[in-house]
Amino acid sequence: MGTASLDQQGVIVACPQCSQKNRLTYARFGHAVRCPVCKTNLSAPALPIEVDSTANFDRLIAQAPLPVVVDFWAPWCGPCRMVAPELQKVAARQAGRLLVVKVNTDELSDLGQRFGIRSIPTMAVFAGGREVGRTSGARPANDIEAFVSGSLNSEA
Ligand SMILES: [Zn+2]
Repeated sequence: MGTASLDQQGVIVACPQCSQKNRLTYARFGHAVRCPVCKTNLSAPALPIEVDSTANFDRLIAQAPLPVVVDFWAPWCGPCRMVAPELQKVAARQAGRLLVVKVNTDELSDLGQRFGIRSIPTMAVFAGGREVGRTSGARPANDIEAFVSGSLNSEA
């Protein structure tokens, strides 16, 4: 299992085969990317991305060419731990169609305040730079996918 994070220019994914870190830049998102070491296909992040700064979060929302599902969570929250593996399933199944990101509201409390997060887990869907849907509470991967597609369809 690799890891994924953000920097100023895109998503950093660790190769699931060899752990080499590679950047998928927003400008070239969706283009074929292969690990330079082992040639594994890395074109789409297939796991939740940990957000480590508000600035990188804002760049992601503004520049990501795919819809973004944001999980607002905290380490002490039991239901958040239950939903974590479900979000991993969603990230794997929707790779190339969605980005799944996790915002720790203890570490990034400014984001929690800006979006008025009152209970966790809260999941929000962003498309085209703005929020198009929100729901609270843990739920299985199938329900998360239905919530996301419903949010996106209501925008269409
Ligand atoms: Zn590799």
